[in-house]
Amino acid sequence: MSLREVTKTYATGAVEVAALRGISLDVAQGDYVAIMGPSGSGKSTLMHILGCLDVVSGGQYLLAGQDVAAMSEAELARVRNERIGFVFQQFNLLPTLSAWRNVALPLSYAGVPGGERRRRALTALERVGLADRVDHRPGELSGGQQQRVAIARALVTDPAVVLADEPTGNLDSVATADVLSLLDELHRAGRTVVLITHEAEVAARAARVVHIRDGRLDVGVGATTGGVA
Ligand code: ADP
Ligand code: MG
Repeated sequence: MSLREVTKTYATGAVEVAALRGISLDVAQGDYVAIMGPSGSGKSTLMHILGCLDVVSGGQYLLAGQDVAAMSEAELARVRNERIGFVFQQFNLLPTLSAWRNVALPLSYAGVPGGERRRRALTALERVGLADRVDHRPGELSGGQQQRVAIARALVTDPAVVLADEPTGNLDSVATADVLSLLDELHRAGRTVVLITHEAEVAARAARVVHIRDGRLDVGVGATTGGVA
């Protein structure tokens, strides 16, 4: 993933907010990067752009060498579904669906047949230590368990990249440790992991830390070695 002088401006009525003011960052395949910064510094905006959930206002974003601005809506949807796994602070699980059905959702969008969806969802839940909770709904699970369901959902499509936006923000220290060790495991398995956080101890788990403030990266960070994902 490669960002070149990326800017993002939100227009709300007469007010314009420059959320990103010229971000250049390379993330190599298999890298584990933490993006750290205070509230309002542009972390979530950056994650939305990295995840193709939103588009840049200026500059360029290349994902696996492809210019995201040139992709159609259908291509973007496919990239989000197949190449990227998302984990959010609020878990974003559907409350009426069981854990395994939540995990299987990205597979339905990808057109995977029913029996295989269930089998793969169960495998993903087993990997996050929730084999005994597959039929529970989110409301019947603890926060930490809900986040593990969300991680299973992010994994089930076997994405190259996992983007996690404050994934431990709503969790106690035990659940935080579980989530961080799952992210470590994903990294060890060769996935690219981008972890957004405002907590130094959480960021310290990554292979490198990039600091963002007022929509800019601190000078002197963001360098990378090896191939670009
Ligand atoms: P962080 O995740 O670091 O807290 P955000 O990326 O959410 O920061 O926000 C960066 C800035 O952009 C903030 O000033 C925020 O108010 C503004 N912002 C974020 N999303 C929107 C939006 N959808 N519309 C207008 N302004 C937004
Ligand atoms: Mg945020």
